[in-house]
Amino acid sequence: MKSRMITLPDAIEAIVTSCEVCSVGMTDKDNLPYVLPFNFGFENNTVYLHSAPVGRKIDILKQKPEVCIAFSTAHELYKQSDDVACSFGMRYKSVIVKGKVAFIEDFDEKVRILNVIMKQYTKRDDFVYSIPAVKGVAVMKVVADSIEAKAFGY
Ligand SMILES: Cc1cc2nc3c(=O)[nH]c(=O)nc-3n(C[C@H](O)[C@H](O)[C@H](O)COP(=O)(O)OP(=O)(O)OC[C@H]3O[C@@H](n4cnc5c(N)ncnc54)[C@H](O)[C@@H]3O)c2cc1C
Repeated sequence: MKSRMITLPDAIEAIVTSCEVCSVGMTDKDNLPYVLPFNFGFENNTVYLHSAPVGRKIDILKQKPEVCIAFSTAHELYKQSDDVACSFGMRYKSVIVKGKVAFIEDFDEKVRILNVIMKQYTKRDDFVYSIPAVKGVAVMKVVADSIEAKAFGY
């Protein structure tokens, strides 16, 4: 099975937006890894996240905003022989984004980003939001410092 790196921005975006969730890796104050699944939005090499405004990840990200975000999709088990374990494998497409979390405070920008996240899951971006809900949610963006994409078996 061949693996190949993908560099075309449209192809990278297609992989990311076909994913249901991403895994956000961060580093806590003791330099230990902490990885959480997140819903997300994506546009222009930027990952958007939202969250309750308190909790362990918020404490970590406010101290250490560096993150590594993994996406993977098109998972497909293949085999060459039913009985040979090493002949089994999985086709996949995946993307890794590295960057820094920035917390968004501007109300209108928060609404715009929440609509980008909603669009990822509903294909709609014209939702209404209550003012307290927008004020109360933490909205984050990660502009990619680097973005790498790979396809294995495709
Ligand atoms: C498919 C999916 C999508 C999600 N999307 C979002 C999202 O968009 N935004 C969002 O904020 N959260 C999302 N979550 C939940 C997220 O993964 C965290 O559980 C949540 O944000 C709380 O994180 P925290 O660090 O604030 O937890 P805290 O409540 O501060 O954590 C306390 C302890 O609980 C443990 N813990 C926390 N989360 C998990 C977990 N998911 N699994 C097992 N143990 C855990 C950790 O050991 C942590 O130290 C999603 C989860 C899933 C499975």
